[in-house]
Amino acid sequence: MPNNIVVIGAGVSGLTTAYLLSQDPENRITVLAKHMPGDYDIEYASPWAGANYMPVGKEGSNHHAWERDTWPALKEITEKYPEAGIHFLDALIYNRKKDQETATGKWFSELVQPNPWYKDVVPDFRNLPESGLAPDIDNGQVFTSVCINTAVYLPWLVGQCIKNGAVFKRAIFKHIADAADAHHSGQKADVIVNCTGLSSKFLGGVLDEKLLPARGQIVVVRNDPGPMIGLSGTDDGEDEALYLMTRAAGGGTILGGSYQKNNWDPLPDPNLANRIMKRAIAIAPQLVKEGQGIEGLDIVRHGVGLRPLREGGPRVEKDEVAGVQIVHNYGHGGFGYQASFGCAETAVSLVREVLRNKTRAKL
Ligand code: FAD
Repeated sequence: MPNNIVVIGAGVSGLTTAYLLSQDPENRITVLAKHMPGDYDIEYASPWAGANYMPVGKEGSNHHAWERDTWPALKEITEKYPEAGIHFLDALIYNRKKDQETATGKWFSELVQPNPWYKDVVPDFRNLPESGLAPDIDNGQVFTSVCINTAVYLPWLVGQCIKNGAVFKRAIFKHIADAADAHHSGQKADVIVNCTGLSSKFLGGVLDEKLLPARGQIVVVRNDPGPMIGLSGTDDGEDEALYLMTRAAGGGTILGGSYQKNNWDPLPDPNLANRIMKRAIAIAPQLVKEGQGIEGLDIVRHGVGLRPLREGGPRVEKDEVAGVQIVHNYGHGGFGYQASFGCAETAVSLVREVLRNKTRAKL
């Protein structure tokens, strides 16, 4: 008997989980979502991400393990499948101790450690000599990371799933248990995988009050600064951020950003956009021609995404709602890509547990 599995959500969490599940020919998968790759919407975080691998999980936490376990998968895809839209890029990380207590400083606190756990995970990690740092920087480091062109990578994941037999459909659910009747076979699903991100706050049967948005505003430009850069904070506001990354395969350069908790505003703030662009040029003057300011930036678009942050960390666990077996995989804040494979592997092992129990119940 095949396993009928419904995955709700086609962001990076749903697609990575469906991709891993689809590698088992016993699994018959339907992916159902309100938004699909190609859409840009405030309810859909994944297309807005940079996205890169800059670990932020506290040492010893699940978050740490999920990020650690994701690097080998991203590295393998980058090396084996250039059509997935990921490339290796140096990441330069700068820390100012004065940012420690700000929203952005807390978010980046693990990333900017001079001796972080991830130094043994990513290639070529090294501390930058103090003599070469700007006067306001306390420590800096460089390592090989990846930058993902989300507009290429998300459709690539869809393609891999379809190749393995998964079926994709649009649907909007008011209650999670309703998805059990939406499997493409017409039969009841054995298990629902919930990858609805921030919307799990409002989805019937879940209604997770621990979820909150961390608003990220970005500017996408055609200019190319070379390596990726991240700084622990800014002097413009405690929840503003400074990072730049050039996406693979002509995806442009993302200038960020902000980390505004509980801010749901979907529209780009033009003043914040100005600050983002000015800060980017200040830290990477090579972005524009000598003597130029923000008029030297060639803007593709302004954007806003809501990171699906969850107090206490992501929810990757089993549940039962109205007699329907559920595996949750949501609440990945600003690290949904860099923890994607780790979280999806945990979700897949939980799905296997549910399916084993189903088989036992039938014997
Ligand atoms: P989403 O991408 O939000 O997907 C949710 C899916 O569920 C959608 O398909 C939606 O339509 C569907 N859905 C929701 N409710 C329903 C419903 N009721 N019925 C049917 N379907 C439903 N992460 C990194 O790792 N690295 C980065 O560099 C990075 N940079 C970022 C920069 C910005 C500006 C932002 C905003 C985020 C960034 N992130 C980054 C975080 C990352 O984008 C998110 O953690 C990730 O995209 C969350 O993915 P998801 O699949 O869980 O949710």
